[in-house]
Amino acid sequence: MNALSIKARFPILQETVDGRPLVYLDSAASSQKPDAVVEAMRDYYVHDNANVYRGVYRLAARSTERYEAARARVAAFIGALPEELIFTRGSTESLNLVAWAWARQRLGPGDEILTTVAEHHSNLVPWQEVSRATGAELRFIDLTPEGEITEAAVKAAITPRTRLVAVHHASNVLGTLAPVKAIAAAAHRVGALVIVDGAQSVPHMAVDVKDLDVDFLAFSGHKMLGPMGIGGLYGKTALLREMGPFHTGGEMISHVDPTASTFKEPPQKFEAGTPNVAGAIVLAEAVGFLEEIGMSEIEAHDRALGEMAAERLREIPEVEVYGPRGPRTGVVSFNLEGLHPHDLATSLDSENIAVRAGHHCCQPLMHHLGAPSTARASFYLYNTEEDVDRLVEGVLAAREFFGHVLR
Ligand code: PMP
Repeated sequence: MNALSIKARFPILQETVDGRPLVYLDSAASSQKPDAVVEAMRDYYVHDNANVYRGVYRLAARSTERYEAARARVAAFIGALPEELIFTRGSTESLNLVAWAWARQRLGPGDEILTTVAEHHSNLVPWQEVSRATGAELRFIDLTPEGEITEAAVKAAITPRTRLVAVHHASNVLGTLAPVKAIAAAAHRVGALVIVDGAQSVPHMAVDVKDLDVDFLAFSGHKMLGPMGIGGLYGKTALLREMGPFHTGGEMISHVDPTASTFKEPPQKFEAGTPNVAGAIVLAEAVGFLEEIGMSEIEAHDRALGEMAAERLREIPEVEVYGPRGPRTGVVSFNLEGLHPHDLATSLDSENIAVRAGHHCCQPLMHHLGAPSTARASFYLYNTEEDVDRLVEGVLAAREFFGHVLR
């Protein structure tokens, strides 16, 4: 995999500030978009734009065909069938869909929802609200001090009352991977369902929902080279069939009487109103781009850069890198002693290096790690070893500027 030639296909990464190119290390928040993706958006609106399902004219038929072809392509990317993929606005909406259409309808006092304090707020707050509304108890799998989920901790936390296990696949703060396959097996043994937040795994590794045997998987298009405002929810067919709708209104109905309605089969049952047709079609283009490079190559590349950055940052005595050593996605959270991460990020920005600073929508995890906030560098297929060098140099420059003694 040649990251330099991949980088050349991302227009924004060719732009310079003060003659220096942007080092973009915030792909965990949102990825940049290649030429082909930007062009696909224009192409759709220039040639194929029309609302889906409703028109009898050819343009509408073409738009509908492209939308459904996009569904098939994105579904295949995660090992799913087209009817198992609901297009949503992204991970947050996908998780809320399951919270409203499944959990709120099925859970009650005496039931347990199991999650962790390492979840993104999108995979925690919906379950807090379900718990409040239904009386189901929210319980937490113990993490290691460094923030990892172990199989032993999962087994210890699951009880015969567990009805739903909601976990991340890859952490957006630590880059650690949860043992999702083992979690699904353990949950299924007690008849519980598993919903996986794949926001940070689907963009960075081959994810096969059938192999993992999860019941639901949420992901976001904008983190995997696609546009903002589109993402997906995978659900097992039998579950999607028996669930009631989430949003109601146009295009999700079969028949409407003044006082009651019947609904279409999934996935249309869950896609009320005009969907993000362009977003879905362009996401399929992004998936094509990722497949062309190869997900196992991307996984190895991101991991190598993440591990390299973690190791090199650890060599700076005043830097603390969070999370365990060893396999991670390309996400590294760290702090420079004595400096607020916002100041560190601002200092890096002055060198045209973009990192995220804050609690990363994971306040309970920050509390667990004993750090109110961190700086986070996240790598993707267009990052190079030189970007790691620039990051380390930038941190050293901040250390010098803010008064640490250079060794
Ligand atoms: N889960 C994780 C692990 C994430 O990193 C994010 C995005 N930061 C989300 C959920 C929410 O994704 P979105 O904002 O695209 O809905």
